[in-house]
Amino acid sequence: MFEKILIANRGEIAIRIIQSCKRMDIRTVAVYSEADSRSLHVLEADEAVLLGGAKSEESYLVKEKIIDAALKHNCQAIHPGYGFLSENPEFAEMVSLAGLVFIGPPASAIATLGDKIASKAMAIRTGLPIVPGHTGVLSDIEEILAIAEQIGYPILLKPVAGGGGKGMRIVTKKEELGYALEACKGETRKAFGDDKIFVERYIAHPRHVEIQIIADYYGNIIHLGERECSIQRRYQKIIEETPSMAVDDSLRQKMGKMACDLAREAGYSSVGTVEFILDTEQNFYFLEMNTRLQVEHPVTEMITSLDLVELQLLIAAGEPIPIRQEEVSMKGWAIEARICAEDPSRGFMPTTGMVTRYFAPRGKHIRVDSGIKAGSLVNIYYDPMLAKVAAWGETREDSRKLLVSALNGYHIEGIITNVHFTNAILNHPAFIRGELHTDFIEEHFEDGQMKIAPPQERLHYMALAVTLVYHNRQNLVRDSLKPMVAQVGGIPDSKTLNHYMVRGENDIFELRLEGVQTSRTWTIWVNKNQYQVITPEFAFYQRRLKLKINDESHRFHLQYHGNFIWAAYCGITRTFEIYSPREWKLAKYMPRSKKMVLDNILRSPMPGLVVDIKVKKGERVYRGQELIIIEAMKMESGVASPCDGEVQDVMACIGQAVETGDTLLTFRL
Ligand code: ADP
Ligand code: ADP
Ligand code: MG
Repeated sequence: MFEKILIANRGEIAIRIIQSCKRMDIRTVAVYSEADSRSLHVLEADEAVLLGGAKSEESYLVKEKIIDAALKHNCQAIHPGYGFLSENPEFAEMVSLAGLVFIGPPASAIATLGDKIASKAMAIRTGLPIVPGHTGVLSDIEEILAIAEQIGYPILLKPVAGGGGKGMRIVTKKEELGYALEACKGETRKAFGDDKIFVERYIAHPRHVEIQIIADYYGNIIHLGERECSIQRRYQKIIEETPSMAVDDSLRQKMGKMACDLAREAGYSSVGTVEFILDTEQNFYFLEMNTRLQVEHPVTEMITSLDLVELQLLIAAGEPIPIRQEEVSMKGWAIEARICAEDPSRGFMPTTGMVTRYFAPRGKHIRVDSGIKAGSLVNIYYDPMLAKVAAWGETREDSRKLLVSALNGYHIEGIITNVHFTNAILNHPAFIRGELHTDFIEEHFEDGQMKIAPPQERLHYMALAVTLVYHNRQNLVRDSLKPMVAQVGGIPDSKTLNHYMVRGENDIFELRLEGVQTSRTWTIWVNKNQYQVITPEFAFYQRRLKLKINDESHRFHLQYHGNFIWAAYCGITRTFEIYSPREWKLAKYMPRSKKMVLDNILRSPMPGLVVDIKVKKGERVYRGQELIIIEAMKMESGVASPCDGEVQDVMACIGQAVETGDTLLTFRL
């Protein structure tokens, strides 16, 4: 076995590979760019080499530098991960010529299979069904029109180089072709450096089902069953599972055998994946073969108890596959969600920023492959995928529920991610029923939101969670203020409340709390429904809350903005406004603001005493600047400006006792 290898990648996959290496006593060398000098993969590896600038072209894609680093650091092999150089035959070749082992298939197999036309030709030779279309490069619009007439609309224009769903365009009628062709070619040129495209029939509402294979240098080839990856946005997967509800034993055997046949024909070794689409009549068609480890490999590992990276390493080191096809056992069900820095409400646009708080879920049968920690910077240079969360269960429903609870407990602050979006998918009734197809998101979601309303009970849970926290928080602060109030006097309304009005979007809930803060056991009425609730020990600022409601544990994410509390649970996100019945009389006539805070008002985020005012009327202020100091809980806290602007008026005065939500000053924007 190798003593030391270089990992030519970054993020969660670099860390994933390091983990297997550690178990196998293989030392690791990480590579990194200037933007990644403090990244997790650099810390986890035994050694690390700086490659160059932040841009991939200056670092992770510079073949010579990577090979040079491997040689200088006495590595025997290079693992390319996925993305970057993993499917670059020239790189694989260069690695071998340098006397190193490329942990992946032979360069020739990468070259053939990476070309969608060549691989389709090979698939035909091997007897795999392919999507009807044309197996040659096309550029002429007349030629495409003629082919479209033959195969019938809708058609799909696809890049020959292909990958990551880039460049593909659907054409539903001939009038659309001109524009779609230009768009497809433009994107293809940008992504792959050429504009070679081909045409296939577009299969309506298909499922994406793929077969994981393993091959060694001695002609042994086995498959590890299928993964279903039908939940996609922009032709890119975000939720994957195995097995697939659409695949029975006989179909699995048929697809598995064909995948192995193709790998044999290609002279394949290492792990690889043969992708198919499955139409509504159980016909399947070959799409492409990915000649690398795949993002979604964890679900296969969870049901087979195999380590695919370990297998890659063994095979690359010249060992035969240690198990036979008959010995592969698949147990239970596993589902994975990809966590990406992207905004589902804005067309899945990538987001950037710093991870300010990070807490990953833990637990039996929960797996988190992550490349980030608190303090990590997410920038524009690399893939937006940050982590993957996978859960295993005896049944699909067990694994789904466990993944939902894991996502409820996955806390990433500072950047916008798709955590709640993926959770919403997992909670959609159609997903639960297993009615999956590649247009699932388009059909069931709009602007990142489910098209159907969430179940009332879930909203009740959320309303009671935010109210409990608000209630305890108010009481904690009041208690701490007692000595001060005795001196200064005049904190308004200091008697304990147990009756609240809560507004969350279009719903209004009336809550009654019975219980005492110290006992942690409550009876809570939400409208006419009664719930028994056990709370944890309350902290003043509880961002992650675990409640036992009617004997079942539930996790919530919370963010406080005075009496506005944002909560997330099972993919539902809401800002709740909490009022005492007296405040409610006034509040309910107020126009509901879309935003949590009105931009031109600075409100007190907590009850307390104003001890300092740092600005005057007419002064210019900047977002984040501390404007007013409030004392509460024996601590002074600054209230920062939410915006850039000018102080229009100062309402608060030093020595004044204020309640949550009181206006401290106003801005002119
Ligand atoms: P699959 O999921 O079938 O492996 P995808 O194309 O959806 O295929 O995912 C692989 C892609 O994921 C790569 O081509 C790359 O763009 C992207 N990717 C995600 N995370 C990383 C990473 N850490 N390093 C490099 N590429 C990554
Ligand atoms: P990439 O190399 O970008 O991964 P693929 O050929 O694997 O390209 O296709 C990616 C996705 O695009 C598939 O999972 C599927 O959702 C969709 N797709 C590809 N070809 C077709 C087709 N002929 N009909 C319908 N959907 C398709
Ligand atoms: Mg693909």
